[in-house]
Amino acid sequence: MPCDAKSVAAAVLSAADTITAHRDELVRLDQAVGDGDHGENLNRGFGFVRAALEKSIPDTPGAVLKLVATTLIAKVGGAAGPLYGTAFLRAATALGDASELTADLLVAALRAALSGVVARGKAEPGDKTMVDALTPAADATGTTIADILTAAAAAAQAGADSTVPLVARKGRASYLGERSAGHLDPGARSTALLLNAFAKAANT
Ligand code: ADP
Ligand code: MG
Repeated sequence: MPCDAKSVAAAVLSAADTITAHRDELVRLDQAVGDGDHGENLNRGFGFVRAALEKSIPDTPGAVLKLVATTLIAKVGGAAGPLYGTAFLRAATALGDASELTADLLVAALRAALSGVVARGKAEPGDKTMVDALTPAADATGTTIADILTAAAAAAQAGADSTVPLVARKGRASYLGERSAGHLDPGARSTALLLNAFAKAANT
């Protein structure tokens, strides 16, 4: 099935719905290790994305992701807004002006998203951040978009789960020191949720 701007927009809208459905969970995760704003910040940001896409859908998959990026950068505060904004912006750049997403472009976009987050936030795997979910996700392979996203989502959730025992070395959770151990990182969980929503959309 071709994956044009409309399909990518539909996947983003389903990701927005997922964030709304998991808003409270993300709030609770961030209350345990941070300031509790992650769920609300992301939900607000994706609410603006939803409103923009319901008005009009940009012409290319890259332009859709660029709209997501600029909206998140403008509307989402905290650490995660600029980090997710950078991820979507780099992914958009990787897609260029292609009229359809392909498996190869998707792999390039996932890698570009990871390198953008790392360039901006300077976190390494094991620092208990979204990088722990995005790094294994960016290694996902497959021959179709649906296969790659399914593998990426599963890898991201395993990576998120791996943050539980870790002591945070980046972001607000690092202020807790050893007390950050024993909790799931909220940004790693939201990364897994977003990729899972994209995978579900690609499989329908
Ligand atoms: P804030 O910490 O400013 O309140 P959020 O609560 O929205 O921002 O997001 C927190 C999440 O951001 C963390 O769970 C972590 O995954 C991610 N994060 C924080 N700092 C970094 C960083 N330097 N690099 C990558 N991810 C980070
Ligand atoms: Mg927070």
